Amino acid sequence: MPAKIDRVMVAHYGELWLRGRNRDLYIRKLKKNIATQLAGEKFRFGKSYDRIVLLLSKDSDSESIQSKLSGVFGISAYELVHRTEPDLKHIVKLAERLMKPLKGRRIHIVSHRSHKGFEFTSIDIIEKIVACAEKLGLDPRVKEYDAQLFVNVTKTDAFVYTDRHRAMGGLPVGTSGKAVILISGGIDSPVAAWYAMKRGLEPVYVHIHGFSDAKEIDGSKMPRILKTLSSFSPTSKYYYIPSHIFQMSAIGSMKYELILLKRFMLRVAEEIARREDADCIVTGESLGQVASQTSSNIAAEQHGISLPIHRPLIGFDKVEITEIAKKIGTYGESIKPYKDVCSINSRNPATRTKVEILDRLAEQANLDAVVARSIKSAAISAT
Ligand code: ATP
Ligand code: MG
Repeated sequence: MPAKIDRVMVAHYGELWLRGRNRDLYIRKLKKNIATQLAGEKFRFGKSYDRIVLLLSKDSDSESIQSKLSGVFGISAYELVHRTEPDLKHIVKLAERLMKPLKGRRIHIVSHRSHKGFEFTSIDIIEKIVACAEKLGLDPRVKEYDAQLFVNVTKTDAFVYTDRHRAMGGLPVGTSGKAVILISGGIDSPVAAWYAMKRGLEPVYVHIHGFSDAKEIDGSKMPRILKTLSSFSPTSKYYYIPSHIFQMSAIGSMKYELILLKRFMLRVAEEIARREDADCIVTGESLGQVASQTSSNIAAEQHGISLPIHRPLIGFDKVEITEIAKKIGTYGESIKPYKDVCSINSRNPATRTKVEILDRLAEQANLDAVVARSIKSAAISAT
């Protein structure tokens, strides 16, 4: 027999409502993602039509479950609901326990009976709880409140809760297909990855490194950044691609080296997308943030790439990106020193690159062959 329900975690999925016919598919995926993210936690799914219900028992770690749930895309809000017997005394006692820490707050009390056969009306329930709130030093009111307490009485249970937490929203990871994400050791691309996942893209990460031996990456900050990002996606795959084959073949293109390197990165991403069945590429570029990120450079870099390239941060300021990096937990690692291939390259990059010039340089460097050889030397792992 399963353990008796003690508390219930209710997750709401706002935007999924908009999805019409695909709604069931989205909800199934969301539940699957929740199950993966919450692996090892004690809970089971309860039945509900319009929300996701997780039944917790006495030995469930509700703090840990809440923290993991807050990292699942597709959930717009969640609340930890406490269960008691459908009996007025029990309800008031539980409400009292939940209101105690809210002393001094202006509280709005809401009651709903799903089971109309309950011997007290919602008004009766509210009156009792209001009296209790006043005794505890709270200020019950129906307008201009800063806290709420909800009661829901069903035939077999009474549910009471105070906090509704806003979650990240977005769409369940995997419902928009896969994306190859070009990830550097910097601040921006991990944030771009987060936004890509937020719109339901499952990440396949590609990082171009400057080490002579891929094993050196293991001791760098890259695995730590990727681990933090993996908490937002049930699965992710990483390709570590060496840059030395490119560096050797691109000699002599000084002024355009950085732009050619970007073309190389996009070409690598495109090839990997083909292998992984991904249908787009994501980068952390933001317009004008550094000298090389101009529209003409972007045009030259992406010329010939047949997949859509998403740049979620294109209109973001560095301050805004930094705030999100801190919120998602990648900032601390991103600012640590790292031998990034972009910084090794030309310090004075061209800012207005002509497509024809870059096409010629790519041909001279035999870029297609360089891409193929570099991917052959990739170190690949997955979670
Ligand atoms: P970031 O903070 O993400 O490094 P940035 O502001 O430093 O970005 P660039 O160095 O011009 O800007 O890089 C632009 C984008 O190119 C990055 O956001 C990332 O998507 C991609 N990129 C840069 N370096 C690498 C790399 N070593 N491997 C894979 N992708 C990279
Ligand atoms: Mg960078």
